[in-house]
Amino acid sequence: MSRAWLALTVLLMACGGDEVPTASEPGDCSQLDIDTCAQQLVAAMTLDEKIEQMHGIGLGAIEQLFHTATNERLSIPGFRMVDGPRGVRAGNATAFPVGMARGATWDPALERLVGDAIAKEAVAKGANVLLAPTMNLLRHPGWGRAQETYGEDTHHMTVMSAAFIEGAQQHLIATAKHYALNSIEDTRFEVDVSTDERTLREIYLRHFRHAVMQTGVGAVMSAYNSVNGFYCAENEHLVRDILKDEWGFDGFVMSDWFLGVHSTTESALAGLDVEMPAPVFYGPKLRDAVDGGDVPISIIDDAVTRIVTTKLRFDIAQPAAFGDEVVESDEHIELAREVARRSITLLKNDAALPLGSGDSIALVGSLAATANLGDDGSSAVHPSSSISPLAGLEALANEVTLIDNDAPTTSDEASIAAADAAVVVVGLTGEDEGENLGTSGGDRDSLSLSAAHVALIQQVAAISPRTIVVVEAGSAILVEDWLDSIQGLLMAYYPGQAGGDALAEILLGVTNPSGKLPFSVPVSEDQLVPFIHDEPAVSYDYLHGYRHLASTGEAPRFFFGFGLSYTTFDFGELTASMSEQGLSASIDVTNTGSVAGEEVVQLYLSYPSSNVERPPHELKAFARVALEPGETKTVTLDVAAESLAYYDADARAWTNEETSHRLLVGNSSGELLTSIDL
Ligand code: BGC
Repeated sequence: MSRAWLALTVLLMACGGDEVPTASEPGDCSQLDIDTCAQQLVAAMTLDEKIEQMHGIGLGAIEQLFHTATNERLSIPGFRMVDGPRGVRAGNATAFPVGMARGATWDPALERLVGDAIAKEAVAKGANVLLAPTMNLLRHPGWGRAQETYGEDTHHMTVMSAAFIEGAQQHLIATAKHYALNSIEDTRFEVDVSTDERTLREIYLRHFRHAVMQTGVGAVMSAYNSVNGFYCAENEHLVRDILKDEWGFDGFVMSDWFLGVHSTTESALAGLDVEMPAPVFYGPKLRDAVDGGDVPISIIDDAVTRIVTTKLRFDIAQPAAFGDEVVESDEHIELAREVARRSITLLKNDAALPLGSGDSIALVGSLAATANLGDDGSSAVHPSSSISPLAGLEALANEVTLIDNDAPTTSDEASIAAADAAVVVVGLTGEDEGENLGTSGGDRDSLSLSAAHVALIQQVAAISPRTIVVVEAGSAILVEDWLDSIQGLLMAYYPGQAGGDALAEILLGVTNPSGKLPFSVPVSEDQLVPFIHDEPAVSYDYLHGYRHLASTGEAPRFFFGFGLSYTTFDFGELTASMSEQGLSASIDVTNTGSVAGEEVVQLYLSYPSSNVERPPHELKAFARVALEPGETKTVTLDVAAESLAYYDADARAWTNEETSHRLLVGNSSGELLTSIDL
């Protein structure tokens, strides 16, 4: 069904005619704007047909897609929805590194390609709505679904999620999820998150606002939890007032899945357009609420107009533009490999890395021969093949001895002692963190590795003077128990189906690491804001992550934005100017080492004379730059004027105050090498 055909059907019905007009007649949608076309379709619907558009058709997925109804009479196709954030959760599909790994690339151009690739594979599977990206801020690294999102910082989240949405929406409807303040897993169905209006707007909603107002995201998924006393699916302030009225969102709002909706009238009045995956509170109950006068028909018409308009805007009636050839294509697997290369983050290097091409390696740990792709919940992806650290190293290294367990025996110890280096793979799996599936996943009680993995590192480090630890996990892991006894540390996150290749390339220096942490790694958990995941109510205040750490004056073990390279970079003089459009800063960056490398230049702002509370400093711009040895490039970083504003909760408005701005530029939130006041 094309859009033209859809509109044409309506016109025919409305006129009661039975002649098919030619393409040049008014029934041709190329001559009707989308809004008019949608209005005509909605006007032609019965109330039951309208309500049928407002919910999914059943609890179970059909061929792993969640459906809403197709209206055969009016030729309005249904939504076909599929997860997810690290690849398509339907059959075999390319497994990309998780969102957090992609956050570590600080590379929006690359993330746009990931959005493009996942969307193409989703279309090939029959979907027209992708249930991604997950763009909830990492308030605390213990959050079980940390891996799905991009990190702890609002600006970084804004840029990375927008890139994904732009890439994906070339082919289908992307979904900004979960709106909002969804960053606890174990109590996700019931927890009430309270926060003040300024924190809500500046910290937790800013990236959603950008996705709506600048990126034109087509769908928003409400979160399970409640915010300030109202479940997100019936939270009038979040959905009706802010998202729709204030930001002008013209797409549709769907609920999160089971237990995501708690009411009929309240949800409809608050602006929930689609209940997923099945009609529990919508369907007949919504019909009764309309008949009984509790829900005005204008609310239904508004919801259905949004649904139909989005279908027309994204032309979902068109036949799928991609087929099986794009699924797990060489191009997509290479993209997954490239993302892994740019995400893996070097955190410690006491002359241990890179390994030489002739070095023998003892590869140790029960995760070493496993491609550890991440959690087993709605973001799970099942590629038909994947590369473990062992497979990656075997393809590149001279000699690899696998010690495939977490408690090396005496003869294993001899192998470790005999090797030129030991690479120990430790971390978490879908058992330990992820969507809470009852028996696996959920939030983390501790940010430490398991006792077995700590003991393994200590055992190997006592034998090999060149011990390199590779951590696989969705966010921060405490390292204090063992960092001093090892020589090299790489954060691999969950690096996707080609991650083993990228890891081996980095270990052997074929690829120079360039990932940067999208979260802070504390010295101990008490440096962070509390993480309460067993109580029905929590409160989120203004500062968390590096903003909170900077306000307490405590240095974390690894700063937000930190990551080493096999080369060194020098930052030149910072110049900057302010105009009505905002700030513009320039700085020369030079590769002062002997190998090519990539650096992420980060600009933070502080507000020394502000009249309101501000974070000690906050990220406002960043750019990735590739430099050959000896090469210098000028990097320009722009901060739009609206990005300088704070949210004045009394005035209920974004406010640009007359204040001085201190620009701080460096390569992490803790190494701000040069500054200028404007
Ligand atoms: C998750 C969503 C997901 C949906 C459909 C929910 O439980 O929270 O992120 O898109 O299931 O699988």
